[in-house]
Amino acid sequence: MTESLKVFGNIPSVRELLERHRRAGESIGLVPTMGNLHAGHVSLLEAARRQSDVLVASIFINPMQFGPSEDLSSYPRTFDADCEVLQASGCNYLFAPQVEDIYPLGMAGQTVVSLPHISALHCGKSRPAHFDGVCTVVCKLFNIVQPDRAWFGLKDYQQFHIISRMVDDLNIPVSLIGMPIIREDSGLAMSSRNGYLSAAEKHRATALYQSLQSAAASLARGQEFRLVERLAAEQLQDAGMKPDYFTVCDRNTLLPAQGQETRLVILAAAWISNTRLIDNLPLDL
Ligand code: AMP
Repeated sequence: MTESLKVFGNIPSVRELLERHRRAGESIGLVPTMGNLHAGHVSLLEAARRQSDVLVASIFINPMQFGPSEDLSSYPRTFDADCEVLQASGCNYLFAPQVEDIYPLGMAGQTVVSLPHISALHCGKSRPAHFDGVCTVVCKLFNIVQPDRAWFGLKDYQQFHIISRMVDDLNIPVSLIGMPIIREDSGLAMSSRNGYLSAAEKHRATALYQSLQSAAASLARGQEFRLVERLAAEQLQDAGMKPDYFTVCDRNTLLPAQGQETRLVILAAAWISNTRLIDNLPLDL
């Protein structure tokens, strides 16, 4: 019989409980999320389940990573359905704190974990404090749960890069595993924000992945990187999306590739109506 999911919000109690598992020599796996779980999250949970004695998921819609005009208040909150998904995925513990548990003194004046340069590029250009919020909360989650391993999706490619760098820079004793993007049959990368889209918008949003695929084909034919980016932006506009950025990057640094690099990732974000979607495609030339 599968054990039922236990839900915690309180930091001292989750710490005490996980300490008991640690002392028993059991490995702890963590899957951090903002809830509204879909098949992308499930792929992380399933991988984590296979490689951990104790599987912990977290649900926390982190206000620190949302800009003032972003969708914090409308972000989908589906706690009961999420608990069912977690239970079905064999998750042992859900850490679901309140904002006051994570930021008891408020967010102003809170210590911030910030990785310079790369956090200001790509998504960081249109979401200036976003990655500071992500790093700060993920660092806190690592300190609270103290997982041996943590699973993240490569859908948020820049986020994974930045968190990996944070873990190295701050000597945090956790191994990170990046999991491939789970897509709808249409190619659209699964995302909680897809729920904001009408059926017609969802159909149009498939242009984002299509633009990445066309760009990858052009790069493979030897087309110049900046030209590929310009044509992809036009392709997105023609499909009724507003490109935010579309950049051929060096996969190791996430800096715009200059022409000689062969290990690439194309990073892209585009708006459809009021919804901003991101996607990416790794590519070896
Ligand atoms: P979120 O709840 O959106 O913060 O996502 C929680 C984790 O799930 C992050 O590590 C995401 O990268 C990952 N994730 C979200 N969507 C997908 C997807 N379509 N495929 C794989 N991983 C995903």
